[in-house]
Amino acid sequence: MVPPDALPQPTPNDVRRDHERQLSRERNRRYYARRRMQVRAERSSPEWLAKRKAYYEANREKLLARQKAILNRDKKSESDRRYRKAHKAELAAKKAADYAANRQRRVKLMQANYAANRDERNVYQAAWKRAHPESVFASYAKRRALAGGTTRVDPVVRQAIYDRDKGLCGICGQPVERSKMTLDHIVPLVRGGPHTPENLQTAHRSCNCRKWARTMEEWLAAQAV
Ligand SMILES: [Zn+2]
Repeated sequence: MVPPDALPQPTPNDVRRDHERQLSRERNRRYYARRRMQVRAERSSPEWLAKRKAYYEANREKLLARQKAILNRDKKSESDRRYRKAHKAELAAKKAADYAANRQRRVKLMQANYAANRDERNVYQAAWKRAHPESVFASYAKRRALAGGTTRVDPVVRQAIYDRDKGLCGICGQPVERSKMTLDHIVPLVRGGPHTPENLQTAHRSCNCRKWARTMEEWLAAQAV
């Protein structure tokens, strides 16, 4: 279950794209509405009906054959379905064998594709990362969390954590600039803490470093000495 404050926030880019999609959808709708009226008008004329009739008479054999083919196809797909159901395990084994047999070829193809599109992909990825800094932070944090040995990683939105904490450092209680915030794991990852919004708090980088791999209790106890 994803807590509501962890849902991804739309970026300005997302907002613009949604707006453009909306406009394009409305344009299409108007176009089809206009076309529908036109088509309906054309098809109610006696000329159109006469034309249709003439076409049907001229192509009668062909049209009937096509209709028959469609009905046969339905029958065939029904028998195919029955066959697939009856030979399920056998077909799955064959598919797996084919997949394994073509592995080498498939890997080569993917590698060639990957190499051929390297420059284009790099440009695209760099642009995407610039447009989605939050996603970049999130995936970096996730990778680090998994490397740190935690098993539970939930979606985390830094802005949501910052807003929830009202911009205050959870360690020293003083305000943190948004651009300088770091995320502190209340129960550190190395101590088995999860990478989830509930286990994260806004923190100064320096406070975060000082607290290090200690729980809040341990850290507070060390301050009292
Ligand atoms: Zn602090």
